[in-house]
Amino acid sequence: MPTFDYAPAPESRSVVTLAPSYDLFINGEFVDASGGTPFATINPATEETLAMVAEASAADVDRAVKAARTAYTRVWSRMSGADRGKYLYRIARLLQERSREFAVLETLDNGKPIKETRDVDVPLAAAHFFYHAGWADKLEYATLGANPRPYGVVGQVIPWNFPLLMLAWKIAPALACGNTVVLKPAETTPLTALLFAEICQQAELPPGVVNIVTGAGATGQAIVDHPGIDKLAFTGSTAVGKMIAHAIAGTRKKATLELGGKAANIIFDDAPIDQAIEGIVSGIFFNQGQVCCAGSRLLVQESIAEEVVRRFKRRLETLRVGDPLDKNTDVGAINSARQLARITELAAVGEAEGAVRWDTGCPLPKNGFWFRPTVFTEVSQSHRIAQEEIFGPVLSVLTFRTPGEAVAKANNTPYGLSAGVWTEKGSRILWMADQLRAGVIWANTFNRFDPTSPFGGYKESGYGREGGRHGLEAYVRTEVSA
Ligand code: NAD
Ligand code: MN
Repeated sequence: MPTFDYAPAPESRSVVTLAPSYDLFINGEFVDASGGTPFATINPATEETLAMVAEASAADVDRAVKAARTAYTRVWSRMSGADRGKYLYRIARLLQERSREFAVLETLDNGKPIKETRDVDVPLAAAHFFYHAGWADKLEYATLGANPRPYGVVGQVIPWNFPLLMLAWKIAPALACGNTVVLKPAETTPLTALLFAEICQQAELPPGVVNIVTGAGATGQAIVDHPGIDKLAFTGSTAVGKMIAHAIAGTRKKATLELGGKAANIIFDDAPIDQAIEGIVSGIFFNQGQVCCAGSRLLVQESIAEEVVRRFKRRLETLRVGDPLDKNTDVGAINSARQLARITELAAVGEAEGAVRWDTGCPLPKNGFWFRPTVFTEVSQSHRIAQEEIFGPVLSVLTFRTPGEAVAKANNTPYGLSAGVWTEKGSRILWMADQLRAGVIWANTFNRFDPTSPFGGYKESGYGREGGRHGLEAYVRTEVSA
């Protein structure tokens, strides 16, 4: 059999103009930070510094919260839903218009393949604004309760795995419901949020409705602790989520927390195997496995386990790992040295605990942060790689014999964000969905997202829902909840 290589197909970097340094976006303008230490954001595929970014201090967060409060009381909460919707439509269209720029910038700053930023992150971000634009004048009919009203100023802290998409998940519903926001992107991926600030200017969004403050944990903490914040929305690690829950206990602040996961992707012996293999691949290697709902535990029925693992490994040989800007790349760079160290450490623990490790041995680029798609077989439930979120391209394979055993094993985790079920039988899908303690359950597919569909977890995966009608609930008070 002749084998063919793909010629390089790099997306052009020239659609993106990077400034050497970035300020904070407060009250509709880019302003200097007061005293923090600027930090570099790098391209994790090359380790090249992309730009310097301002660190917002507590005083800067205070300025942003005050701007958001003024915009809330004077403008945004008084505007009709139909008018708020017009701004959201405008933002959605501008995201589409500048989609190529956003896709390239996201790939540069995060390390994920251009194929994903171009086809998933950016179009879905625009879709979230379109969807919520439609709700802005219909909140009365969303059956949220009588007289739905905004909370006021919302503080939002987001992670680095889907920087622009998480921003859209947070900002679109908040604005649709009449709130104003202070948002902090993650310290390793602030650039698309800052480009989004430009979109707010271009859309002529009233100053102060959206404020973007950059920085790391201390800046996030300043948002959490600020007394002028009415509601918090956080996506990130369970550890920080718990700290936030502690910090706001006893205050009037509301919160939604979207935290980690350790999803089971469950393959029954009557599943369409070829499709299931693709589902396992996208379940764990989409975004290098740095996905809270990743299908990181494969539960495969014992009678087909050997065949599934053999065919899955063969499929892995065809994955192209490397330059994220290349349109043929399937698996890009890990987001940071820190995340790479964490993945490396947990994979080593898997080996030490006796699971069998396998990867393709594919070549990796010299610079940057890389981890080969990796599979562990002979994993038992007590292994740390079966219990802890690795947040990387590492799959743990376990087997089961009966549907009952599949459910027991799938639910044996502190998390409960998502799960996948692969079977030909509709009745079994429904039975499984009923038994699985997870917020999202995919049937014969995995990692599908849609703004109309609520997303969120059980147990240590957090609380509250984002997206769909349910997601609006977090951003309005009603006669019952007020
Ligand atoms: P993290 O929770 O520390 O960071 C997420 C966001 O929270 C970032 O913007 C960060 O600056 C901010 N933050 C950090 N400390 C804070 C504090 N005390 N108060 C307020 N905000 C704070 O996550 P991480 O360290 O970047 O990643 C560690 C692990 O978290 C990963 O290995 C993964 O398991 C998990 N994670 C989950 C998600 C998710 O989508 N659920 C996303 C990223 C990371
Ligand atoms: Mn970066």
